[in-house]
Amino acid sequence: MKNIVPPPPPIVRNQFETIRELFSKHVVPSYGRFDLAFSHGAGSHLFDVNGRRYLDLGGGIAVCSLGHAHPAITEALIAQSRKLVHTSNFYYHEPQGRLAQALVNLIGPGKCFFCNSGVEANEGLFKLARKFGHDEGRFEVITTVNSFHGRTLAGIAATGQDKVKKGFEPMVPGFRQVPFNDLAAMQAALSPATAAIMIEGVQGEGGVTPATPEYLLGLRRLCDEKNLLLLMDGVQCGHFRTGRFQSFQRILEGVPGGEPFLPDGISMAKSLGGGFPMGAFWVRSPYADLLGAGTHGTTYGGSPLACAVALKVLEVIHQEKLEANAREVGEFLETGLQRLAAKYPGVIQTVRGLGLMIGVELALDIPRLPGDPSKSQAVRLANLLHAAGLLTIPAGAQILRLLPALNLQRAEAEAGLRILESVIAKLTA
Ligand SMILES: *Cc1c(COP(=O)(O)O)cnc(C)c1O
Repeated sequence: MKNIVPPPPPIVRNQFETIRELFSKHVVPSYGRFDLAFSHGAGSHLFDVNGRRYLDLGGGIAVCSLGHAHPAITEALIAQSRKLVHTSNFYYHEPQGRLAQALVNLIGPGKCFFCNSGVEANEGLFKLARKFGHDEGRFEVITTVNSFHGRTLAGIAATGQDKVKKGFEPMVPGFRQVPFNDLAAMQAALSPATAAIMIEGVQGEGGVTPATPEYLLGLRRLCDEKNLLLLMDGVQCGHFRTGRFQSFQRILEGVPGGEPFLPDGISMAKSLGGGFPMGAFWVRSPYADLLGAGTHGTTYGGSPLACAVALKVLEVIHQEKLEANAREVGEFLETGLQRLAAKYPGVIQTVRGLGLMIGVELALDIPRLPGDPSKSQAVRLANLLHAAGLLTIPAGAQILRLLPALNLQRAEAEAGLRILESVIAKLTA
């Protein structure tokens, strides 16, 4: 029988306002948030509470390495949580041992410690440096300008950006910053109290700046000469994002003398759990037993659940050849962005990156649409992109970052470039 009664119109409720109100009443306002609330996702797409779809090229800040709601992650969570979620580190369990083995195989001879976030991984490396230098009275860790190492007290002391320190002085002692990619500055900064150097292989929050091969090799020589630990924060640039497991492996590809390079410690988090919160650090063999029983720990670190998920993430990356995908789709995205930069120099100044870690530096004064109050150009453009259905991540006032899922498809990258161009074209019209 024919239906003669027209279907009722969908009920439209503005759930976003309700959620925002809960936040403004009950959540500490420490984040500058965009006016978006998401309810679910699939692959590289997110859906907001009003049912609108967005292409996610931010990847939850380089976290959702397999995209959203990947069935393999869901299955790993279900299967492991049916068996064992948590036991504490008083006991052994298989997933932690297996994950440590997998990470050591991907990096080099050493051992791993598991924690719950990036800053905790760095904190562990800072403690390693202090233990290493302790008997000689050495404790200092030199880091770089524009670096980012996390938000705890040691994390902000290590971070080379004043905005994270402001209002929280005095800083934890023993951290100083020198310009990035400047070997002479690092050499000049060393003091008898220096125990370690920490850098990011690709500065992330600082605007996607890769270390040069000469810098990495020079720091290695310097640390060997002066008996210092070379520590690398791989929290954002690690886990295959650059097209190799760690960024230094990619940066030093084909560089004479680059093959044997290894730092002494590497911190990991973000993509490691594919969205399940976890962190880790790897420490090179000669120092792997420095943190002996009772010297360091965390209740949740390396739980069976977290490790089962991280193992599954590694398995999927391997099976689906996402290392190569990050390289290929990353190159495709970067080339497309370079083309946009050439076509719209009034909006995009430069594009730089490695694999699926790309920074788009905006021109100094991109045109403003009437009625737009945002101060930062990166935030202004990000908002316009949201309105057009594309998610990106600002880094500072002048840079937009793309940190998408490692399984981003070429067609999705193409769609992202199209949205970006349509917004830029409107801006410059
Ligand atoms: C995100 C980040 C951190 C901090 O990680 P959290 O999990 O937020 O503590 C540290 N270092 C780098 C390079 C990062 O990008």
